[in-house]
Amino acid sequence: MDLSTLVQTQKEYYHSGKTRALPIRLLQLELLYKGIQKYEEELFAALRQDLNKSDLEAYTTEIGYALKEISFARKHLADWMKPEKVKTPVTHAGSAGYIVPEPYGVTLIIAPWNYPFQLAIAPLVGAIAAGNTAVIKPSELTPNVSKVMAAMLGELFDPAYIAAVEGGVEASAGLLEQPFDHIFFTGSVAVGKIVMAAAAKRLTPVTLELGGKSPCIVHHDANLRLAARRIVWGKFLNAGQTCVAPDYLYVHRSVREKLLIYMKEEIQTRYGARPVENRDYVRIVSERHFGRLASFLANGEVLAGGGSDTERLIIEPTLLGGITWEDPVMAEEIFGPILPVLEYENLDDVISVIVQHPKPLAFYLFTESAKVKRDVIERVPFGGGCVNDTIYHLATPYLPFGGVGESGMGSYHGEYSFRAFSHYKSVLHQTTKFDMKVRYGTAKNALKYI
Ligand code: NAD
Repeated sequence: MDLSTLVQTQKEYYHSGKTRALPIRLLQLELLYKGIQKYEEELFAALRQDLNKSDLEAYTTEIGYALKEISFARKHLADWMKPEKVKTPVTHAGSAGYIVPEPYGVTLIIAPWNYPFQLAIAPLVGAIAAGNTAVIKPSELTPNVSKVMAAMLGELFDPAYIAAVEGGVEASAGLLEQPFDHIFFTGSVAVGKIVMAAAAKRLTPVTLELGGKSPCIVHHDANLRLAARRIVWGKFLNAGQTCVAPDYLYVHRSVREKLLIYMKEEIQTRYGARPVENRDYVRIVSERHFGRLASFLANGEVLAGGGSDTERLIIEPTLLGGITWEDPVMAEEIFGPILPVLEYENLDDVISVIVQHPKPLAFYLFTESAKVKRDVIERVPFGGGCVNDTIYHLATPYLPFGGVGESGMGSYHGEYSFRAFSHYKSVLHQTTKFDMKVRYGTAKNALKYI
């Protein structure tokens, strides 16, 4: 089916009302849940082939995560769908105002390669829960996952309701020409701009989940052992190919040496003395990305790691010292297992550097001081983040997940996914029992009531 016919077919399906009733939405979510369970082994194999993800990492960050989002949506959907009654001012006596969540209609989900399953399915959960139809465009850089996902969705759903369109830039560009009612894009800032420009032609609303350089600060009063463990975990998970991974580290000069010792120990505990030989360590997605990352290894001095395997596209968890903002590694989002370590004396200086750069997707601060926490959180703009942890904020369905400024617009997860795929329609239900004459009166009279 060509793209235009596909979208037209979905429009007809949507307008037939088949996506709207609560029991139908619940049923489709259940189908998706069972379908994922059925395809679990194939997904494990595909994630291993495309990224060398271990089953444990594949389950916790992709498959299990998607299943949890579905369970959460099924549990709360009836509440989310309820119209919300709101107050009315005295000028509206007798009327009732309410807000009704309404599906956008036919939606497009464009996914990246780094969590190729989860980042396609989690938005889909929101699209289904909110009563939409959806076209999903998985990433071409993870072709095995893309294939399994397309087969799974093809088996579970009528393409008039949910369809996967595989392919690269061309497929994506073709889809962006179609009259969607909402576009949910996850990927790079550069492509986010292309998506938004295409959406602007039809004034299609967009959710943009983008990236950027997410800072991590370790203050002198931090619990260093825990900071080391949580930074190493968040940075090197998926070999640093995580949109919210700490991109660079600022550590207070007085605790730098101690933190580095702990971090090296943590790297060894998690990945072994020679991570390049660890068969469960995630690989870099493509030769192009491998080349880009390998070139950063010549920046500054290698404090830990630095090894790589060109054949298997592996780069060891690496800490770089002696880095300045002039180094290429600081010019763009790293998106790999390389962590530049910068030091500071005065926290104000760090904050003024961070706020000169685009607003990051994530931000992490390690401190035991409530005052430092309040001050820094207030002064640094960012999409979402953690105090005394990394990445974990995205794993709670109660927090909206998204960027701000260049790191994105809109948010999702839990109820926020439902909201991302809904228009909140305002309705005023006026009484016919009486009529307030004053509203039709002279401007002078009417003004008294405003
Ligand atoms: P990407 O922007 O290159 O690709 C994302 C998707 O867009 C893919 O499906 C791709 O086929 C499509 N695409 C690529 N070029 C296109 C074009 N010219 N026109 C239309 N579509 C096009 O991103 P990526 O390399 O897959 O992912 C890495 C980026 O995604 C990083 O910047 C990362 O921070 C970001 N990311 C963000 C989140 C988040 O939740 N905010 C999550 C994961 C990744």
